[in-house]
Amino acid sequence: MYYKSTRNSDVNVTSAQAIAQGISKDGGLFVPSEIPSISFDDIKNLGDMGYSQRAAFVFGKYLTDFSEAEIAYCVDNAYSTKNFETENICELAHLFDGTYMLELWHGPTCAFKDMALQILPYLLTTSTKKINLDKKVVILVATSGDTGKAALEGFKDVPGTQILVFYPEDGVSAMQKKQMTTQEGENVGVCAIKGNFDDAQNGVKAIFTSEEVADKLAENGFMFSSANSINWGRLAPQIIYYVSSYAQLVKDGEINLGDKINIVVPTGNFGNILAGYYAKKMGIPVNKLICASNANNVLTEFLTTGVYNRNRQFHTTISPSMDILISSNLERLLYHICGENDATIRDWFGKLASEGKYEVSDDVKAILKDEFYAGCCGDEETKACIDDIFNKFSYICDTHTAVAVKVYEDYVKETGDETKTVIASTASPYKFSNSVLDAIGAFDADADEFALVDKLCEITKLAVPASLSELKDKEVRFTSSINKNDMKEFVLSTLGI
Ligand SMILES: *Cc1c(COP(=O)(O)O)cnc(C)c1O
Repeated sequence: MYYKSTRNSDVNVTSAQAIAQGISKDGGLFVPSEIPSISFDDIKNLGDMGYSQRAAFVFGKYLTDFSEAEIAYCVDNAYSTKNFETENICELAHLFDGTYMLELWHGPTCAFKDMALQILPYLLTTSTKKINLDKKVVILVATSGDTGKAALEGFKDVPGTQILVFYPEDGVSAMQKKQMTTQEGENVGVCAIKGNFDDAQNGVKAIFTSEEVADKLAENGFMFSSANSINWGRLAPQIIYYVSSYAQLVKDGEINLGDKINIVVPTGNFGNILAGYYAKKMGIPVNKLICASNANNVLTEFLTTGVYNRNRQFHTTISPSMDILISSNLERLLYHICGENDATIRDWFGKLASEGKYEVSDDVKAILKDEFYAGCCGDEETKACIDDIFNKFSYICDTHTAVAVKVYEDYVKETGDETKTVIASTASPYKFSNSVLDAIGAFDADADEFALVDKLCEITKLAVPASLSELKDKEVRFTSSINKNDMKEFVLSTLGI
């Protein structure tokens, strides 16, 4: 299996090269040259395995240049109870009849990003070894809140790596900020940007693709890679939990092998839902992929009309990890569904860069309509949904997951579809205690983020993740805040070059 660039189909690299490099030199994203398949027998066998074995099976299909021992080393180190609070790594909770919450937040930073970022450092350092790169890998991250912390935890003190995280100063929750600014480790750095997530992401992309910067790094024994979901090493691990939950539902007798399920994903950068698309194309029986957005509903409009238009107001919402107007991974999806036509992708994404807008062809529109349902909701509806679920099922969910639940409810109302459904639950409610308490009518303006956690625990009785309560006594290490145009200088000066 080889990896091509979405903007140049002639690019042909191994998975190790794709993961080490992060993004293709032409600005395109690496995509597998073909999507491997999984049989019903495979699914049955997976039911009897633990999570890390399931992961090894899926990776074996995508990372064909890795040896079995290399894959085992990566999955065994990442997916263990050293890092996750549950032996199952992720949990499937029954919400109501035929609806399951796929809780992806039992890792060290309490968001689904851990599912990929606990393993990425192992994949990346194994990759650089395989291709004999003796450079120090510099990880640059733009974060809307959760990726930053998850990447910092994953990479802290990993030999041969250094990590720098940029976050939008006013675009993350108090708990998220505290998680990042107190990060421990000798090889870590954190910096706020006066701007939004898109500014941070564009800044990082520009630094990545600058030849001048790359040359300077190379001269000094460094190279860049990415821990954002533009890196294939972030995306591949996310396919696993969709495959795994399907196998689990079959094993538990909740569905019969071959029954279709819907997958609902609260979406920002389109990474998580794209992983669901890959799982479907591999052979997991999926009916609809339901893409849920907050007030930043550029994807809702795109998936329903075929017009992507980022020229719109940016909204800061109570689901900040989805406050995104440029969803990078859409490029991978479009590459696959437009027949791997790199010229078309260059045309559309060139227009996105120059005009902020593009429109896909009628064929592509038809495929999008067939595969996806898209919906959105605002903050008030999100809060009402949290309250409603808590009252009805004594289940408390975070602000991002609630967007998914609300959009799913709208979908059922609109279509009457009774297909069993997995809803990706992407963060612990404790990361967003303020908004969650507000939603259930227990807002307390005077309490700090830790008092809010205690209060939420009192009301819901849900156990508080140790990694969050421990933050209280940690010292703030990072206080820099810079203009979005100064990111390059900041990176170079941090590296001392
Ligand atoms: C990152 C994130 C999302 C969005 O995921 P994408 O892969 O960017 O679409 C949703 N919810 C939470 C809690 C997140 O951290």
